[in-house]
Amino acid sequence: MLNAKNPRAQARAVTLPLNAPEGLLGDFSRFYIMILLFEGPKHGYEIISKIEERLGQRASPSLVYPFLKQLEQSKIVGVQNESTGKRLRKKYSLTHKGESLCGRLFKQFTTIVSSAIEPSMSSCSHCGCRVYKDAHYEEINGRRLAFCCTYCAASYRKSARSSKR
Ligand SMILES: [Zn+2]
Repeated sequence: MLNAKNPRAQARAVTLPLNAPEGLLGDFSRFYIMILLFEGPKHGYEIISKIEERLGQRASPSLVYPFLKQLEQSKIVGVQNESTGKRLRKKYSLTHKGESLCGRLFKQFTTIVSSAIEPSMSSCSHCGCRVYKDAHYEEINGRRLAFCCTYCAASYRKSARSSKR
């Protein structure tokens, strides 16, 4: 149920399509539309062409426009009408409410992504920073250790030598 007096409930109602079982790509396109709008105001056709350009995937206008309409009705985006000659173009931009929704969405997404890549991450034995995929490995004192870079490896080697003394 939509509760007009409760903006949080409304915001939740808008995130629902992301979980709807309408095919993963459709849901991801919606999420990506939010990212594009977060970057700045855009026309509908700009959104469609950017999705194609960056994701290499066709975005169907029958997905994009109804979603934009839905965002407009929920006051997640504001619409500015621009007339170019005879045609009327709509430019969509996030409202304040839309921006805070994006903040929450991106945070959720970051949590999901980091838990997905966590198992393939290692931490640098010197500075402790997390390294994804391309860790630098060196064998020091018979142990194979991961480092974020050769400088950290060298510093670690140096301090390992001095602490041995
Ligand atoms: Zn390091």
